[in-house]
Amino acid sequence: MSDVQTLQRGTTRIDFDRFPRTSLCHQPTPIEAMPRLSELLGGPSLFVKRDDCTGLAMGGNKTRKLEFLVGDALQQNADILVTQGAVQSNHVRQTAAAACKVGMKCHVLLERRVPDRDASYEETGNVLLDNLFGASYDFRPSGLDMNGEAEAVTEDLRAEGQRPYFIPGGGSNAIGALGYANCAQEIADHSRDTGQHFDWLVMSTGSTGTHAGLVAGFAAIGYDLPVMGVSVRQPRERQMNAVHALTQKTLAKLGAEGVPLSRILVDDGYVGDGYGIPAESTLEAIRLTARQEGLLLDPVYSAKGMAGLIGMVRQGFFKPTDSVLFLHTGGSTALFAYQEQLLASLN
Ligand SMILES: *Cc1c(COP(=O)(O)O)cnc(C)c1O
Repeated sequence: MSDVQTLQRGTTRIDFDRFPRTSLCHQPTPIEAMPRLSELLGGPSLFVKRDDCTGLAMGGNKTRKLEFLVGDALQQNADILVTQGAVQSNHVRQTAAAACKVGMKCHVLLERRVPDRDASYEETGNVLLDNLFGASYDFRPSGLDMNGEAEAVTEDLRAEGQRPYFIPGGGSNAIGALGYANCAQEIADHSRDTGQHFDWLVMSTGSTGTHAGLVAGFAAIGYDLPVMGVSVRQPRERQMNAVHALTQKTLAKLGAEGVPLSRILVDDGYVGDGYGIPAESTLEAIRLTARQEGLLLDPVYSAKGMAGLIGMVRQGFFKPTDSVLFLHTGGSTALFAYQEQLLASLN
């Protein structure tokens, strides 16, 4: 059986039913206009795809990936999910919730990646919810090979007789990226069904699974929508190479041909001082989006993505007639861990 079948109107569909999957996600997520933000910026028409509304435990982009990862874990008869992330990881929170939903345990490693945080940083926001979901966790200092650390823990648990399933940071492997290949198809379906077309898709890019899954999905169905990733951590070249590597693996999994590196678009102008450290432009994006659209972003990911979008509009990157879709990847749970800095930025 072929993974990719050609349908009418020259469009191709990916058959996701051939991959193990468990239902975790509200989908399709809504696409909404942002008229007041568009007007304020005086640029193209801005829209938002609400992947902050995926439905699992305050939502976010990891839920789509976890449908395939937890599906695979269930097929392998695992009884405990093991993963890793930064202290305020949204991925860890969604993984801990998914484990509860399917009746598994969850163990996570939290990397102290972000320096100089609020006193409550390791207690509130996502960490509070990790505790609520009963996940066990250990902290690690910053700078280790965290996937290596988590794999070592996985082997320890196996040696103890448990049945662990390792999920890499961000859920970013070819299995997790299927969730965003599926989202790409969802966006193409939306455009076909409603006649509403987009010229650009913009979102934040971190552990790469979201970006790679989208590029792979659009390539596999032959749909031409350029994806601009706004880096939250790495310099452009490194992020491009990492996204490209996972895109190729995801396309191989889909049984589709690879794409050139030139298909991967990254802007690294909005990282600021580093991962998890909001820049002025991050705080401005949180404020503008809240006050123009009543929409909550987060200080680590989605607001850096939105700062990128705002910056590109101001630089005249888009045509005034363009329709630009921002993928809201979620994360507002982390706002509470940045209370002091956020309040200071409102004065
Ligand atoms: C993880 C995350 C991202 C980045 O997605 P990747 O697939 O890791 O690149 C963006 N936004 C939020 C809110 C996230 O939690």
